[in-house]
Amino acid sequence: MKPWARCIRSLLSLPRWAAVGVIVGASVAGSVLITLLSLAVSDVPGSMYAVAVLIAVLVPTLVAGPVAMVLLKLLEELNHARALAQTLANTDALTGALNRRCFMERGHQAVGRAGQNASPTSVLLMDIDDFKQINDRYGHSTGDAVLQMFARQCLASLRPQDMLARWGGEEFVALLPATAPADALQLSDRLCKAIAAARVDGAGGEPRGVTVSIGVASSVGGALALDALLSRADAAMYDAKRSGKNRAKLAA
Ligand code: GH3
Ligand code: MG
Ligand code: MG
Repeated sequence: MKPWARCIRSLLSLPRWAAVGVIVGASVAGSVLITLLSLAVSDVPGSMYAVAVLIAVLVPTLVAGPVAMVLLKLLEELNHARALAQTLANTDALTGALNRRCFMERGHQAVGRAGQNASPTSVLLMDIDDFKQINDRYGHSTGDAVLQMFARQCLASLRPQDMLARWGGEEFVALLPATAPADALQLSDRLCKAIAAARVDGAGGEPRGVTVSIGVASSVGGALALDALLSRADAAMYDAKRSGKNRAKLAA
């Protein structure tokens, strides 16, 4: 980070009154210093020194205070807008899960770190079963509510260090750092049961449920890159579909 950006970040981390105090203090110090230097090289009579220094203190105090208030407020708003833009660029608007681009970016980093630490990483590829029927029978808004419920259920079962992303349509992907294959499969079985038990109020009032098929792939000791993990999880997910859906399968 550039020094000026670090300065601005430090200023914004202070309470507003303290940040204004720092700016006013620096302005007064600078103004007094310049005034004293100017007086030293000029032939202004000594009696005028006090007046000059008083002006050097008063003017920046009166001007810098209000200007600093406005500037800090604008910087805070800019910071807030930047954080919001970052969140919007990284997340899926419907479900709040990460989007595919962000998942790939962070996923590559997580798998790289795990490789260096010889730590296991697991990936779950999850595809909601017969989702088209939900849309066809109960309407698109019920389908959307099912997708939101699905993401909520997943997030409730995952740890803070895990990542959940919407892979596309009714497919989601999760990356679980420091998770061995057996633990990932156990979590996936739990997730299948939680999703099958959850209900959504569909259009027409009747509660609707869905099931999910999950493919699990793991890399132990950094053996696999993210792309290889994803294609193995995808094959395992299709295996789960072929075996009757509503289940999790571990990649061979
Ligand atoms: P399978 O069990 O084999 O996975 O069957 P499926 O019906 O779940 O799979 P299919 O690929 O045939 O259908 C997926 C459907 O998901 C089709 C598409 O209209 C729907 N879909 C994709 N994105 C959205 C969305 O954002 N909202 C809603 N409501 N539906 C979506
Ligand atoms: Mg699908
Ligand atoms: Mg599906």
